[in-house]
Amino acid sequence: MGIIKIKNSRVKPLMLHHPWVMSGAVSEIVNKPENGSLVKVVTENDEFIAWGFFSKHSQICVRLLSWNASDAIDMEWFSSRMSESIKRRLALSSRSDLNAYRLIYSEADFIPGLIVDKYSDYLVLQSVTAGIDKIKRDLADILLQLTGACGVVEKNIGPFRATEGLSESSTLLAGTNPPDCLDIIESGFRFQVDMLSGQKTSFYLDQRANKSRISHYVSDCSVLDVFSYTGGFSVYAIGAGARSVCRIDISESALKTGTQNLRLNFDPLSFQDSIMCQDAFSALRDLIRSKVYFDLIILDPPKLAPRRSAVKNALRAYKDLNMQAMKLLKPDGILATFSCSGAISLDQFRDTLMWAAADSKCEAHILEMLTQGIDHPVRLSFPESIYLKGFICRIIR
Ligand code: SAH
Repeated sequence: MGIIKIKNSRVKPLMLHHPWVMSGAVSEIVNKPENGSLVKVVTENDEFIAWGFFSKHSQICVRLLSWNASDAIDMEWFSSRMSESIKRRLALSSRSDLNAYRLIYSEADFIPGLIVDKYSDYLVLQSVTAGIDKIKRDLADILLQLTGACGVVEKNIGPFRATEGLSESSTLLAGTNPPDCLDIIESGFRFQVDMLSGQKTSFYLDQRANKSRISHYVSDCSVLDVFSYTGGFSVYAIGAGARSVCRIDISESALKTGTQNLRLNFDPLSFQDSIMCQDAFSALRDLIRSKVYFDLIILDPPKLAPRRSAVKNALRAYKDLNMQAMKLLKPDGILATFSCSGAISLDQFRDTLMWAAADSKCEAHILEMLTQGIDHPVRLSFPESIYLKGFICRIIR
């Protein structure tokens, strides 16, 4: 078995259960472990620290699984970790008004590299590390037994695959294939989810509670849903009495599914819906030029800072978006603004909003601070698991 020796100066965070061994923390690699193999992580004096999966091609060269030397990291171990994680979702699984939520959230659920989302009777699995990728079929079989789901598909796409030396793959792992278009229920609303070709894991489950929070402010409002994807916020808004929604997204297919989602839930005569299929930065400027104003604006952009080196430019983009949105709000209008960039802190995001308000010549009250849903828990020993930050603000001028 491969052994990874850690520099004395870098041992402490690992002992405190931070699950990442960065390549700079390693003093020696013994026995040439294979990519994705189980390794023993030890101090320079050979004292046991933890078991972990080795990632040969990544800066994060080991993800720690267990700090218990007597643990055997076998399928039984994974089965019991997955079962514990699923049990922690009881607050969601016992709700009759929803059937889609995250079952396993990687490091935060003590299984680094494994993400599993439930969409009605089907599961979507992402293996983020080479170690998990090797055993994904066995994990999928166990998941079928643990949940009674009909099928598990993998959705392994995105740049992280290459950093782990893995190729992209979207296919069935266990059970039966889901239908092309699956209906899910969230907070009593119906949504169509395309499990294999939708973005990320098909639906933004992390915003569930935030969509409900925004419902408290939308009664009789005109709503602008920027980066609307398949209309999650719009459906909640119309459901809570909004008069109209205007959805902006660069993806034509996402907007189309959004229109279907609105129709699945509401009589088309009961609300006004319009779409702008274009880059949000230019769409907001077009709206300002046309002097169209809104009561409530939602800004939920994709991850603008995917890595630390992108933070400076991303902060500029967040400021620009928020400044344009503030200009488009009627007096006392509500801005619900989000950042899902883990590399940007809550303070940085709030400061950016302050600059945006100053430059659009308004004041703002923060009414609520929001974060990711309870099925995307934040593990205290792993601060990197916090990524979603949001503010509901009243814009005052
Ligand atoms: N609010 C959505 C999730 C948004 S995800 C929900 O709760 O379901 C981000 C969305 O931004 C995606 O739909 C993507 O197509 C869109 N997008 C990415 N870049 C864009 C751009 N420059 N202009 C407009 N939309 C963009």
